[in-house]
Amino acid sequence: MRAMIFEGVGRPLRLVELPIPKPAPGQLLLRVKACGVCRTDLHLLDGEVAIEHPPRVLGHQIVGAVVSDSDSPDGRRVGVPWLGWTDGECEYCRSGRENLCPRARFTGRDVDGGMAEYAVADERFCFEIPAGYPDAQAAPLLCAGLIGYRCLRMCGAPRRLGLYGFGAAAHILAQLAGHEGREVYAFTRAGDADAQEFARSLGAVWAGGSDDAPPAKLDGAIVFAPDGALVPIALRALAPGASVVCGGIHMSDIPSFPYHELWEERVVRSVANLTRRDAVEFLELAPRVPIETRVHTYGLAEAGRALEDLRAGRFTGAAVIVP
Ligand SMILES: [Zn+2]
Ligand SMILES: [Zn+2]
Repeated sequence: MRAMIFEGVGRPLRLVELPIPKPAPGQLLLRVKACGVCRTDLHLLDGEVAIEHPPRVLGHQIVGAVVSDSDSPDGRRVGVPWLGWTDGECEYCRSGRENLCPRARFTGRDVDGGMAEYAVADERFCFEIPAGYPDAQAAPLLCAGLIGYRCLRMCGAPRRLGLYGFGAAAHILAQLAGHEGREVYAFTRAGDADAQEFARSLGAVWAGGSDDAPPAKLDGAIVFAPDGALVPIALRALAPGASVVCGGIHMSDIPSFPYHELWEERVVRSVANLTRRDAVEFLELAPRVPIETRVHTYGLAEAGRALEDLRAGRFTGAAVIVP
């Protein structure tokens, strides 16, 4: 099969021929139909999040057709997210927090992911894709959607929700938040009129630059952009008792800020990974909103270009590899 592999920090992904992986007991063999590109892939590429054992096939938003032993698709279509395996027995796993399992393995980091023609995945961590979603449109639901969903729930029940960074996750979450009757305030790079217009088209009641103060205090804010300077900015936009949730796996350093900006029970917290419960809940909600994703598709050999387009902010919505 053809696969794009990561070989080391600072090196471009490389297209290679690999044997089709053999599923171990409990694993499914999948013909990859689509695989979403995520900012985490950039952090992996840049070494901000380490890959312990390269070479590695990246990609953790896999939509795949299940291939049976006779090598013909049996018709099932499943999604594979970032959380690829947990031990099921540690104190985190046993208390509903498998996202924090210290032995967790992550798709496209610790095990090969979906930037390839085939992938294997632990069946217990595969999810049925809602009918009606084309493959490419479904892929961004699996990380951008799931992580966004977990971030929103960590905000409590905000009436006014700020989203800092209006990329793949925010464009999905804005639709869900609007469906739940929340007001979305979208913060983009200063002067990014396209992204602000995109946010308004998805129901944001206000869109502006990240340095702009919103017209009213926020009851919750999520920082998706990997820029730590946004954390105190978001904090200053919060009403008392509200939270800033950092949704990314990596962020530049957070500048110091005076304690009175945190005072009145404001909270700064991160969200790490996902649980299978998040996936089940969100994938059940998505078609009821209904969430529609805007995707830009790339061939397998173009995965490197998709990542650089993401880095440069050359598209709105989500990038998806279609091998
Ligand atoms: Zn991701
Ligand atoms: Zn565990």
